[in-house]
Amino acid sequence: MNIAETAQKLRAGDRRALARAITLVESTRPQDRAKAADLLATLGTDRQALRIGLSGTPGVGKSTFIEAFGTMLTGQGKRVAVLAVDPSSTRSGGSILGDKTRMDDLARDPHAFIRPSPSQTQLGGVARRTREAIALCEAAGFDVVIIETVGVGQSETAVAEMSDLFLLLLAPAGGDELQGVKRGIMETCDMILVNKADGDLKAQAMRTRADYAGALRLLRKRARDSEGFPKALAVSALERGGIEKAWGEMQALATWRQEQGIWDARRAEQARFWFHEEVRAGLLAHLTADAQVKARLATLEDAVAAGQTPPAAAAQALISALFPAKA
Ligand code: GDP
Repeated sequence: MNIAETAQKLRAGDRRALARAITLVESTRPQDRAKAADLLATLGTDRQALRIGLSGTPGVGKSTFIEAFGTMLTGQGKRVAVLAVDPSSTRSGGSILGDKTRMDDLARDPHAFIRPSPSQTQLGGVARRTREAIALCEAAGFDVVIIETVGVGQSETAVAEMSDLFLLLLAPAGGDELQGVKRGIMETCDMILVNKADGDLKAQAMRTRADYAGALRLLRKRARDSEGFPKALAVSALERGGIEKAWGEMQALATWRQEQGIWDARRAEQARFWFHEEVRAGLLAHLTADAQVKARLATLEDAVAAGQTPPAAAAQALISALFPAKA
């Protein structure tokens, strides 16, 4: 791949160049990693999109919501990219966005770009590459990047760490189910959207919304955030109800944060976080690429498993062997 040419096409908004570039950043081959780093550096960071993280369990209506929300945005002339972080995903089957027909209209929309989750076994790898895919979408001039996750394990936290706004999509529930949402996620999210507020489910959805609004008020720790946030709203992805209102709220919060300098501070904080993640993962990859270190690691691992050496002591032994002067 010619980096300069790809960069040029990508910046012109060429979706095929973007798709190829994302494939490059997802590759774990060392020569591809070097090229990916080169491409990202060539592209720069002068263009920025609104990055919206969206989490919700399977069946809650994420695809339907993204289809409704995404087509509303493209209808307003905005360019929308959809990425997924799914730690369980394999390209061949089961990927949450692998089946693009779930977002029929958006998939066909020339102003939209949909990309399934990279298939890697380690969430860390998926998350780091998704962050780079966001940067590529921004360079390609997309206005809004939606990052979807099923919220399994750490994926919610990872997506929150790469989003400007983090939304939680929920289904109408009975009162006691409210506790099913992890407190940490309630604290992280900027908006709860109770979906399926239509037909027979409408009254239940309104009650669920009120319950969550109450819970959020109690949790409201971010005194530094705009009045009333995090908010709980009711929407119907199917009937496309409440979506414009939700978008209005997102924009209001985004604007407020930009004016307060919170926006830039948050992005700076996130950049720091991912830098450390990259260092950690890069060091580990570098070390295990060395046959001797790998063998020593395996020996120590066996000793730890056999109860002969405590984990911390084994780690210290490895580190001392690698950095004799400093350890
Ligand atoms: P995902 O797994 O979170 O992506 O959920 P889907 O978007 O695939 O939706 C799961 C099911 O819920 C589908 O049968 C949808 O038609 C249905 N659904 C999604 N949104 C709504 C909604 O707003 N109202 C109703 N009544 N059903 C919905």
